[in-house]
Amino acid sequence: MSSLDKNIQIKNTLTGDKEVFKPISKNRVGMYVCGPTVYGEPHLGHARSAITFDVVFRYFTYLGYRVRYVRNITDVGHLEDELSGEGEDKIAKKARLEQLEPMEVAQRYTNLYRDMMSKLNVLPPSIEPTASGHILEQIEVIESIISNGLAYECKGSVYLDVTAYVEKYHYGELSGRVLEELMTGSRSLEGQSDKKHPADFALWKKAEPSHIMQWSSPWGKGFPGWHIECTAMSSKYLGVPFDIHGGGMDLKFPHHEAEIAQSYAAFDCAPVNYWMHNNMMTLDGQKMAKSKGNFISLSQMFDGDHPLLKKAHSPMTVRFLMLQAHYGSPIDFSNRALESAETACNKLLKGLTFINDLQPDDSNQFDKEISNQIIEKCNSCFKRMNDDFNTAETIAVLFDLLSLAHKISQASTIISSEALIGLKKTYKEFLSDVLGISSESSDSSDTLPDIIDVLLDVRKEARDKKDFELSDYIRDRLNVLGVKINDSKEKSTYSFQ
Ligand code: ZN
Repeated sequence: MSSLDKNIQIKNTLTGDKEVFKPISKNRVGMYVCGPTVYGEPHLGHARSAITFDVVFRYFTYLGYRVRYVRNITDVGHLEDELSGEGEDKIAKKARLEQLEPMEVAQRYTNLYRDMMSKLNVLPPSIEPTASGHILEQIEVIESIISNGLAYECKGSVYLDVTAYVEKYHYGELSGRVLEELMTGSRSLEGQSDKKHPADFALWKKAEPSHIMQWSSPWGKGFPGWHIECTAMSSKYLGVPFDIHGGGMDLKFPHHEAEIAQSYAAFDCAPVNYWMHNNMMTLDGQKMAKSKGNFISLSQMFDGDHPLLKKAHSPMTVRFLMLQAHYGSPIDFSNRALESAETACNKLLKGLTFINDLQPDDSNQFDKEISNQIIEKCNSCFKRMNDDFNTAETIAVLFDLLSLAHKISQASTIISSEALIGLKKTYKEFLSDVLGISSESSDSSDTLPDIIDVLLDVRKEARDKKDFELSDYIRDRLNVLGVKINDSKEKSTYSFQ
């Protein structure tokens, strides 16, 4: 790793400044990102957060850091009214409506989320803990906060005592909200009368006997508040403080603000050194929302099954469109933007073969200027990524490298072997390994039946010509791969074993 590689700057959303990244442990990164609440179809918002931090994960790994990336699954405790922390649990509600066990709902949408992330070439995190699997850890953190005098129990629920908290710590530093604003902003809802102060938030909620998700606790049967799971799981797997906490900017308040308060209240320490927030998306300039009818799930995007979409778009097109913007900027999804992303993505992918096929020339008479330009552009990829993971500018540099490659090929320009090796390595590694743009990860299972049909056609021709050696070879090889061929008089069909 050269010194250039390690000079990463991160826009810390807590301070608003771009800061040089200094890991807590040398060559290691601990990163926590708030994952999905698994009660519905994964959508573009999920994809943007996952892709943003996938690239951060990939780039640190590429530079040789050992990254422990924790992304949780919220399967309990996320209530409908996020601001007040009141209302029905999102997963329990879905379970009630669909007459399913809540864990069935959570499992179904967890599977779907993982499936969609894999289509988008998002790498699985190192640890993917669930809130329901960490109830004891959450109770422990709440007990520490109570023993530090910063939370109180009332009728089986436990609240963080914001009034006591602000005597010792600052509350609202991430979202820039002040306590008065929080007080007037808190709506008066049923159950809030239990709180000492309207801005107090629940760490643990008492469950009514009819509530289907509940656990025993020192305060009776109940369930954890939404925010406490991230404090419990991040501190368990990454310690306090850890390096990077990520999430969508819509989570700044109340969720991340609450995480900061819980960490100070439990451990007398900030949870993390760098906060990173990805921006949101619009569709044709409009904020995406279920109520507006312009809310597109990832399966609708990949199937083209939405009235606002002109056609289906591959996961790679969606990934590419997101990376064409810096994660801190908003993105507008439109049919036009998707189509031009598709064209640009394919152009860069085709460039992989083109650049790889460029042949070295041992002559010492190479073009110094163009060789230097190429080397400088290769270094630029690092510089652009080091600058707060600027994928948009990195993509622009890859396009520059591709046009330089075309230029030298057309003019038969000889470049130095250093430039040629650098060009091939940088182009391939930044496109595939760092940005995760690859043609292989587009969903190959869609084309599998077509490929088997082609093989069956070839086999039929072989059988017609009585070439049984070839036809048996195709049958046996497919059989080993789990594809069983069933021959009948009329035709051959297949089934997966
Ligand atoms: Zn979280």
